[in-house]
Amino acid sequence: MKAAGALRRAVFLDRDGVINAMVYDTEHGLIDSPQNPDQFQLLPNVGEAVRLINEMGLLAVVVSNQPGVAKGKSTMALLESTTARMERELAESGARLDGVYYCLHHPEATLEQYRGICSCRKPKSGLLRQATEAIGIDLDRSFMVGDGLTDIQAGRSVGCTTVLLGTLRCDSCHLMSDQNAFPDLLAPDLLSAVRLIQSRLGQP
Ligand SMILES: [Mg+2]
Ligand SMILES: [Zn+2]
Repeated sequence: MKAAGALRRAVFLDRDGVINAMVYDTEHGLIDSPQNPDQFQLLPNVGEAVRLINEMGLLAVVVSNQPGVAKGKSTMALLESTTARMERELAESGARLDGVYYCLHHPEATLEQYRGICSCRKPKSGLLRQATEAIGIDLDRSFMVGDGLTDIQAGRSVGCTTVLLGTLRCDSCHLMSDQNAFPDLLAPDLLSAVRLIQSRLGQP
């Protein structure tokens, strides 16, 4: 255990739909995560948002389910070069990530080594806990920003303040109450979410 004073506040960030745009797979008619660096495109104002997290003195930590390798849609090399592109594009805005944690598992993975029920696939909290172990994070005073209810569940389960990106619809309200996944805050995009967090930090 690290001393309480050494623990830092973090903003945990989901990746797809928060940092980068989703990709439309015309072949299968599906909306999917980018599976290679060429498909990776930062969403508007994300560089500015992450830089603001850096400037506030909070850790910016990506926590993302990435089962593409397990499903044979991508490779470790492509996933790594996609991560490198994300970091390079953020750096162009003077923004820096303090950690990137991926869950590579999936219950129906085609690659056996990644098949199974793990403790890190969101809505579980394993990725947030791994980051906490590695960097020293005060979870109760940290934030989780995501565009899915599984992000909200993962954040809530470890005591983070949660921010859901997007607009609230009636059908999502049912889901939220069924799954105990009500977010603490709502924002249209990452930059708005970070500004909300900033105003929260300004409060006593
Ligand atoms: Mg997402
Ligand atoms: Zn996992």
